Amino acid sequence: MRIQTPEEAFAEDLDRSLRPRTLADFVGQDGLKAQLQVSLEAAKARGEALDHVLLAGPPGLGKTSLAQILAAEMGVPFVQTAAPALERKADIAAFLSALEPRSVFFVDELHRLSRALEETFYPAMEDLQLPITLGQGAGARVTNLPLPPFTLVGATTRAGLLTTPLRDRFGIQHRLEPYDGPELTAIVHRSAHILGCEVQEAGASAIARRSRGTPRVANRLLKRVRDFAEVRGRGVVDAATADAALDLLQIDDLGLDRLDREILSAVCSKFGGGPVGLSTLAVTVGEEQDTIEDVYEPYLLQCGFLMRTPRGRVATAGAYAHLGLEAPEDPAL
Ligand code: ATP
Repeated sequence: MRIQTPEEAFAEDLDRSLRPRTLADFVGQDGLKAQLQVSLEAAKARGEALDHVLLAGPPGLGKTSLAQILAAEMGVPFVQTAAPALERKADIAAFLSALEPRSVFFVDELHRLSRALEETFYPAMEDLQLPITLGQGAGARVTNLPLPPFTLVGATTRAGLLTTPLRDRFGIQHRLEPYDGPELTAIVHRSAHILGCEVQEAGASAIARRSRGTPRVANRLLKRVRDFAEVRGRGVVDAATADAALDLLQIDDLGLDRLDREILSAVCSKFGGGPVGLSTLAVTVGEEQDTIEDVYEPYLLQCGFLMRTPRGRVATAGAYAHLGLEAPEDPAL
């Protein structure tokens, strides 16, 4: 068992209280919601389990929330794990055989499932059977353990790492995209309401603008801005309070934080604009490769500050301009 730091525990509590509980509560992703609504109604009318659902996209966009909503809308239990916790076939068997019929079984970080275990899921997902080997050596035989009908909801930040046979077994597949300004503003208003905090429209959009398209970031910033408003202001989040609080947190106008800027400035200044490999970059800024690839890089790519090339990461002229640096005469891009 991993012991949480107080900061992680706090973030988890915050996540739990602000999580949307119904599809109607879930802001944005309208195409996906419409598709899920139809599938939910059809499954409920037939009394069947919902088809398996694959949700891809960067962290904090609402994959876990959506999986919980699916269980709530179906009125069935929600059982959660993450692929790294599934080490042996027996771990999967223990989860699946104990499910109540039609439960939602949520597996986070699905791309980290080993190939051998991935194959265990195929007959479970398709035929509700789990082949298990009884006995050992020459006398060993394989028997099929019948499973209750269930919905596998898989979440991944790297859909590209999933094999085609696994991906194809999900009837519903969707990539969650970053949220736009009005959606994030709506999320800030919703969360502020739950937290009992007064937020003006301009304050909400100032937070939304710096939330890098991610609801979890919007919620985290709101909480910090609320603290600031209570300690330094009248407790109301207006544009000036939001800007002052976010400046104090060193989050710039585009939502880039200290590490984003360190990554960009390493590529621009230390490596002459690139190309630089991910592992070198990770060591230079003192962060895990996975964190850079999953959390930081997608937004820097989206802002057009960084580009991925076969030889490594390259800074664009926009990156130099954002950092207030002079771009080289002959930039890499
Ligand atoms: P991770 O993969 O890192 O666990 P995730 O994609 O599963 O991230 P969630 O944990 O579901 O993301 O969402 C993070 C927080 O963002 C939630 O606690 C919730 O408050 C908020 N949130 C996410 N999506 C929405 C949304 N569409 N509407 C309202 N709030 C949202």
